[in-house]
Amino acid sequence: MVILISFDIDGTLEVGDPPGVLTMDMVRIVQEKGFLIGSCSDRPMSGQQAIWDQHNIPVDFVVSKQMLPDVKAKFEADVYYHIGDREDLDKKPALEAGFEFLWPHEAILMPWFLSDGDPGPAGA
Ligand SMILES: [Mg+2]
Repeated sequence: MVILISFDIDGTLEVGDPPGVLTMDMVRIVQEKGFLIGSCSDRPMSGQQAIWDQHNIPVDFVVSKQMLPDVKAKFEADVYYHIGDREDLDKKPALEAGFEFLWPHEAILMPWFLSDGDPGPAGA
């Protein structure tokens, strides 16, 4: 099962402005599990890449909001998700591009973000 996740940045990731609820450690966990991941933000692509580089997270794609259809065309996955915090800038384009959509507060509950040996909250 190949899962692709497109992350919005601002309002979605902890490094966003405003910060969102998804931590870079969560992103790292799904990347290490072999998910196809990347960002889809209105920030310039170079700025998005710089964030990933700064956190040593290798991503499969970095695109602008209009490019979700290209991500779907380029990568073969069983399911495509976009996680974002805006109805107009995230949910609408995601659904139009054939992605499943999750708000950050919904995404954070997905079992994907638990590491395989997660001992629970005390393990932090
Ligand atoms: Mg946002």
